[in-house]
Amino acid sequence: MHWDGWVSAVFDCDILIIGAGPAGLSFAASMRGSGLSVVVLERLSEAALAEAPYDGREIALTWRSVRMLRNMGTWQRLPAQELFGIRKARVLNGLMSAGLDIAPRGGAAEGADEDADLGILVSNHLLRRALYETVRADGTTRLHTECVVQAAATDAQCATVTLQDGRVLRAKLLVAADSRFSATRRALGIPARHQDFGKTMMVCRMQHALSNERVACEWFGHHQTLAILPLGEHQSSLVLTLPHAQIERLQGLETAAFEREMRERSRNRLGALTLKSERFAYPLVAVYPQRFIAPRFATIGDAAVGMHPVTAHGFNLGLAGQDTLARLIRRGRDRRGPGDPGSASLLRAFDAEHRFATRPLYLATNAIVRLYTDDSLPARVARGALLGLASRVPQVSAQLARALQQAS
Ligand SMILES: Cc1cc2nc3c(=O)[nH]c(=O)nc-3n(C[C@H](O)[C@H](O)[C@H](O)COP(=O)(O)OP(=O)(O)OC[C@H]3O[C@@H](n4cnc5c(N)ncnc54)[C@H](O)[C@@H]3O)c2cc1C
Repeated sequence: MHWDGWVSAVFDCDILIIGAGPAGLSFAASMRGSGLSVVVLERLSEAALAEAPYDGREIALTWRSVRMLRNMGTWQRLPAQELFGIRKARVLNGLMSAGLDIAPRGGAAEGADEDADLGILVSNHLLRRALYETVRADGTTRLHTECVVQAAATDAQCATVTLQDGRVLRAKLLVAADSRFSATRRALGIPARHQDFGKTMMVCRMQHALSNERVACEWFGHHQTLAILPLGEHQSSLVLTLPHAQIERLQGLETAAFEREMRERSRNRLGALTLKSERFAYPLVAVYPQRFIAPRFATIGDAAVGMHPVTAHGFNLGLAGQDTLARLIRRGRDRRGPGDPGSASLLRAFDAEHRFATRPLYLATNAIVRLYTDDSLPARVARGALLGLASRVPQVSAQLARALQQAS
């Protein structure tokens, strides 16, 4: 633990962030140079942040997110050979015949390029490491690891957080970035609507004989959803969604049997498959709270909007949310001198702006998941008709491409 300089039982700061995941660390990085004192509390160890282990998540970043990460000085810390451009996205329905292609404005080119690619794939653990390095290199944020929060409360004057070891922190603004099941949000009494899809997503890296043509493919098959995310032409992340018991069986299969089954499940689209990573499972639960704020309190990242991963927007929205909050805090300081990062008017503005930016996408994503994972005949006919219509109207796919490239 790094309690350097903390001698009294109560520690005062301007902004206290709970959670040093991608959202919490991004926000800390965005507040650098603001003149505000920022403290981050994390329950994991320092080593687990510095050397975050591979967790199977490959994050598709929009170009807007790439720009934000570049401005934070984080993008430059990601290994260039681990950044993979997505040339095109393809949505397939039913028997994997023709579907909807979504291509960027500028057409195809080699490597990752803003005009040529829809977005960039990068592993979540590399993002976590790069964000950790960004915050550590700056040296102005106090990062306290291996912390167990016992209680969190706020009133109009300040936020107070008590740790299990008895230490107390007070802040003008408390920010929860502690995952979609945020204990801090719950402690502050904010109700959240959870949507449990009753399915689990399994992710792993696989090498393959045939080229994926750098196309990200989302196939809504009968009784399964399979996404293929290109990590170079002959390696992909395979993302399979099934009821939990079936995922458990697949995770338990020995490697050769697993590779054979995945080849069958992908209808031999990529040829022979070789497993290149562990198999990770994520139960699918989407979460949206009634509000993002309370007195002297705001939620960001998954604690604010816990998206279903199918539209690949969780972290993109998390980045957008922390950027909105950071911008409002900085603007308040520019206009009113020292400013108050936890003022009620600032938090109301954040709540309205982030709701406007996220609510339609959240609802649309859940509706897509419901329609495309319903195997009843009317749902199958409806989604076939929708995809057919979208692929025949070029403006639809052009609009989708623009939305994917610039989204959030
Ligand atoms: C399979 C999968 C694929 C995905 N693909 C994409 C994609 O393509 N594009 C995209 O944009 N997003 C994607 N996402 C979503 C993305 O991974 C999340 O939105 C993002 O990781 C959320 O970051 P976060 O910091 O809000 O939360 P988390 O990553 O959950 O981090 C929370 C942090 O808070 C800490 N913490 C929790 N509770 C406490 C506590 N009480 N005290 C102290 N610390 C605490 C945790 O240890 C952790 O470090 C995907 C998600 C999954 C599961």
